[in-house]
Formats: sequence, C-alpha cells, structure tokens
Amino acid sequence: MPNQPSLDTIVALAKRRGFVYPTSNIYGGLANSYDYGPLGSELLRNIKNAWWETFISRRADMVGLDSQILLHPETWVASGHVGSFSDPLVDDVVTKKRFRADHLIEAWIERQIKKGKTQFEDMVVEDLSVEEMGAFITENKILSPDGNAVTQPKAFNLLFETAIGTVADDKAKIYVRGETAQGIFTNFRNILDSTRVQLPFGVGQMGKSFRNEITTGQFVFRTLEFEQAEIEYFFNPNQTKWEELLEEWKSDMHSFVTGVLGVKEENLRWRQHSDAERSFYSKDTYDLDYNFSFGWKELWGVAYRTDYDLKQHTKHSGQALEYRDPQTNEVFVPHVIEPALGINRAFLMVLTDAYEEDTEKNRTILKLKPSLAPYKAAVFPLLKNKPELVAKAKEVYSQLSAKFAITWDERGNIGKRYLYQDEIGTPACITIDFDSLEDDSVTVRDRDTTDQVRIPISNLDAHLASMLE
Ligand code: ATP
Repeated sequence: MPNQPSLDTIVALAKRRGFVYPTSNIYGGLANSYDYGPLGSELLRNIKNAWWETFISRRADMVGLDSQILLHPETWVASGHVGSFSDPLVDDVVTKKRFRADHLIEAWIERQIKKGKTQFEDMVVEDLSVEEMGAFITENKILSPDGNAVTQPKAFNLLFETAIGTVADDKAKIYVRGETAQGIFTNFRNILDSTRVQLPFGVGQMGKSFRNEITTGQFVFRTLEFEQAEIEYFFNPNQTKWEELLEEWKSDMHSFVTGVLGVKEENLRWRQHSDAERSFYSKDTYDLDYNFSFGWKELWGVAYRTDYDLKQHTKHSGQALEYRDPQTNEVFVPHVIEPALGINRAFLMVLTDAYEEDTEKNRTILKLKPSLAPYKAAVFPLLKNKPELVAKAKEVYSQLSAKFAITWDERGNIGKRYLYQDEIGTPACITIDFDSLEDDSVTVRDRDTTDQVRIPISNLDAHLASMLE
C-alpha cells in the first residue's frame, strides 16, 4: 500500500492534536466509540457542510430533510431491518469473544493468498450464506484470532432496541435507527404535498445512525454511532433510464470526493456488487472504495433500489405512496437511486489522504483542502511580551475572524508554531512583526511550500478568500 500512513499513525495524530478521542476513556473507553475533539469537530462539520451544500443547497432537483432517530417501529419491519439486518457472528469457544464470520474468513483467505494459494483469490465472501460460511470455517479449520475454535455462525441483528414509556411493564419496544434513509421514505407523501418538487427529484438527509457492530480495531471506520448522509433520488422509470441516472450519480459522487474533499484519484475505485451480494430488491449496486491503510474498503454505496421501499411502506402503512405526473396524469410508484455515505469514513479518508511526512524539513503536514481545514489561518505576534505587537496581532485576528475560522498562537518560537499548524492542516500562518507596526503588512507563510510573502493587512481578506476558492 504505497504512501498510506498506518492506522496507528493517524490514530496517534488524531489523539495528540485533538481530532478524535476514545469515548469515555476515563472509564476505560467504550468499544467502537469515539468523540471528536476541538479540531475533529470542525473538520467533521466542514465535511458535512460541503456535502449539504453540494448535494442539497446548490441543486434545484434536491431538498433536505431532518427526520427523527426514533421512528414508528413498523418502519423497520417494513424496511426489512427487523427481519434481516444482521451480521453472521461466531464465538471463540474458549474466550467467548465474538467475531464476524465473514471477517475471519476474509483474513484467512488473505493469509492463504500470501502463502501462494491462489485458488481463493476470486472468492467473494459476501456471496456466502450463513450456512456456507459455517461449512467453510469447519472445512478449513479456521480459528479465532486467539487461535481457538469457533462456534457455527449465527445471524445477529444490528438494530439497537430501546423502549418508550415510564411504567416498567408498559414500555413499548422501539428501534434506534440503523440508517437515515427510512425517514425519507416515510415522509415521501409529506414532501410531495408541501413542496413544489417534480420528478426526478431527490431528498437528502444527514444524521446519526446506530448499529450494534462488534468488529473492533478500525477506529472511526466502523463505530456503534455514526453520521450518515443519504439521498433517495426518485424518478419515473418510464421516462428516465436508471442505467444513465446511476452513472450520473457515480460521477457526482466521485467528483465530490476528488474535487470537494480533495482526495487523490488513485486512492479510489468502484466495486460492483455481485448478484449474490446485492440485496434482492436492488438491480445494481456499486461501492466507491477508498484505499485505507487496512485495505480497499467501502466509503460510499450507491444502489438502484427500484420501487421496493415505497411499496413496502405502502403495504405496511396502508397509505398509497404514489406520484401523479402533472403532464400525463399517470399515477405510479417512483423508483429510487440511493447514494449512502458515511461521514466518519469520509473523515478518516480525508485525514489519511492529507497526511504527509516531509523528511527534508522534518515536519508532518496535513495537506487538507483549505475549505476543509479546521482553521484557515493562524495569527501570531512575533513576540508575546511586546504589547504593541500583541495589540496589532489582535486587530488582525478580529478583522479576519469576522469572516474566517482563525486561530491565535503566541506560545513558543515561530518555528514551533509553524510545525504545530502544519500538523493540524492550517493553510496559512500570519506573523505580525516590528515592520508590521510601520508598514501595516504581515508575513504570510504557506503550509505546503513553506514560502513566505509580505502582504498588506488590508489584502489579507482577499488572500484568504482566494485560497478558499
Ligand atoms: P459495511 O459493509 O462496511 O458494514 P454497509 O454496506 O452496511 O457498510 P450501508 O448500509 O450501505 O453500509 O451504509 C451506508 C454508509 O454508511 C456506508 O457506505 C458507510 O460509509 C457508512 N457506515 C455503515 N456502517 C457504518 C459504521 N458502523 N460506522 C461508520 N460508518 C458506517
């Protein structure tokens, strides 16, 4: 895996610089849970805003939604989550630890390929049923990572359950949402009745989803709680060719990742789901994979789901979820294309992709796109014990912070301040020195090139604005 920093490197930087902390670490942590620190929360918010602006605010054919995390429980019966939203799990017979059967098989196959046993190279583990996985584990005597035998795999539902009500006996079971998409389908009629949308149109929403994941060790890639950004793009299959629409969405997704998030193209690939892997109602599904340090993994999925979801909700709710074409008066159930992105995976991708070690200058740089960087610039008085420099620097700080996310630093020498800002991805460092008091200009140092230029204070707004274009 050329040039990708290891996961440990990213985890250490994230903790050291306040991007990500293990959740509840004063109590020993909580598996598969992470909190976003002062810098991480800014980066996460910038990624979320970029998605919302690109796909909702700037498109005439899209509207937004913010539905609840707790929905009527029948929603999850209709969507199929109660019946079949599960992972195949095995138990280590000695330690009783649980593992995903598909992950154990994948790791075993990888070891065989490394040993030169090429017969497993084309095997797609997702294609196997739970029973087939069990047979494969038995036949090949696959052990747990601790070297012990494992039980036969069992399907384990990923939905978290909770209950509404205050009286113990009277509590009603409900589910914590496992994806944001279902809130879009259940509001389909409301959106048609309350807005001016016409097919084809999309509804997007972003928010927390929850899954009872047991796989550990993948940092924010796979967590119990995560932020999803999902779109349901509704269309009339008699007027719009789904193959073309799917290609358009693939292209929009790819250009968002490379153009807006600034990720290197060579670290992305498309993977089409095989017939066995794909959900039965989907006609075609692709994953946009990123080359994470632990392998090519799904960042963003896009599926053509036909009219399955709206029809399921019609069946379970008794409410017709249909569209009347204003020109032809044709009444039908629209079909959908669903692009579903995990924001936390995008966050890990952006950190990984931006990470660079500059051995020549002995520094670590996060080459984040300026629009994503937690701070667009850092303002420094050259010396912290010279009140006239501090006062001038504070003026610059308040001028810029009215428009941009700016940070202030007066600790240590300038060299150390530069190194710190490079490591958190701040694109520009602005130093106020004694000349600034005379000529009203400052030194601006560029994160990537380390070049320094002298800029009049009155031009700083325009300089930062051009950097963000
Ligand atoms: P995986 O196969 O990796 O478990 P999935 O195919 O079940 O993912 P989807 O249901 O398609 O995922 O969800 C859409 C997106 O949500 C995924 O592409 C991923 O980016 C994100 N996602 C899913 N599960 C998690 C999780 N546990 N933690 C963080 N992000 C997640």
